[in-house]
Amino acid sequence: MASLKDAFLKAGIKPTEAPKKENEREQIKKKKMTDEISHQSQRNFCEECNQVRPDVEQYKHRNPTTEAEWICVRCADQLQILDKFRLTAQSDTSIKKMFRREYGETMKIAGPQNNGGANKPKGDFNGNR
Ligand SMILES: [Zn+2]
Repeated sequence: MASLKDAFLKAGIKPTEAPKKENEREQIKKKKMTDEISHQSQRNFCEECNQVRPDVEQYKHRNPTTEAEWICVRCADQLQILDKFRLTAQSDTSIKKMFRREYGETMKIAGPQNNGGANKPKGDFNGNR
């Protein structure tokens, strides 16, 4: 003999389901539109000449004539900022391994592709035994 509950289930009646749907609208959360464009990790705007350049890198220099840190190669050469003050190798030119300084020696800085020892300059002291 089937129980009353089984009889309800066979009839398609589900006693636990409440027909109340008044609050459904509140449950749909509005997607917040992000105000900012997704964070741009690559910078290509030269703070010195105020132009977009494919070879802008960050320099931690002590040149008193400029406060710019993100500088293109041309400006860095003109400002005579040595490449050893360069912190990044994030520009398109660096990624294509075409980054080259006219002023002084061009340093080899690990680009963003190498996540292993990023920005760690290899000290070659104590290298010879
Ligand atoms: Zn520039």
